[in-house]
Amino acid sequence: MAEHIYVQPISSSRGREPDACLLEKIAHRLAGVFNAKVIVEREPVHIPGTAYNPRRRQYSAEMIVQFLEREKKSGKVLAVADFDLYAPSLNFVFGLAGLLTDIAIISISRLRQEFYQLPADPARFTSRVIKEAVHEIGHLYELSHCPDTRCVMHFSNSLPDTDGKSEDPCAKCRKMIKTYGKTKIVEAS
Ligand SMILES: [Zn+2]
Ligand SMILES: [Zn+2]
Repeated sequence: MAEHIYVQPISSSRGREPDACLLEKIAHRLAGVFNAKVIVEREPVHIPGTAYNPRRRQYSAEMIVQFLEREKKSGKVLAVADFDLYAPSLNFVFGLAGLLTDIAIISISRLRQEFYQLPADPARFTSRVIKEAVHEIGHLYELSHCPDTRCVMHFSNSLPDTDGKSEDPCAKCRKMIKTYGKTKIVEAS
C-alpha cells in the first residue's frame, strides 16, 4: 500500500497563508515522484509566537517541526510556510527535514523573485517550490544529497543552484526510492 504524504499549510501572525492552488501543484508532483497518496490539508496549522525570534525576524524551523510533531498523523508531512525560517548557525533555510519525525518544512518566501526586488516570475516561483518540496520529502525517503547538479536532491546553496536543477530525482536517486519501498514491504511480510 502506498504511503500517505500530508501537505500541511502553516500560518502565523507574520505571514500570509500559502495559496491553495500552489499546494495542489505540490501534491500532484509528490504523488508522481514518490508513488504516494498525497492529501492537501485545508485548515492551516497556526504556529505560536514562541517559534518567532524577534532579533532575527525569522521563525525557527526546528521549533515548528517539534510543534507539528504533537499533532502528527501517521505518514509523512510536508509543512509549507510563507514566512522566513532559520536553523542554528544558518542565516536562513529554504527547508528542513526531520528524519526521526517524518516531518519536513519548506518556506516559499525566498523563492519569489520579488524577495530580491526583481519582477515577479510565477512559473519560475512554482518550479522552485516544487523542487524544494520534492527535495525535502526525498530526505524523508532517506535520500541523501546527490552530486548530480541536475538532480532535485542536489544541495541548493543559492537560488541559481535551485534554478539549475530539474524537478525530479536522477535515475540513481529514483532507484533508491524504489529500493526503500521494497525493503518496507519485505519488513511488513
Ligand atoms: Zn537537502
Ligand atoms: Zn540524484
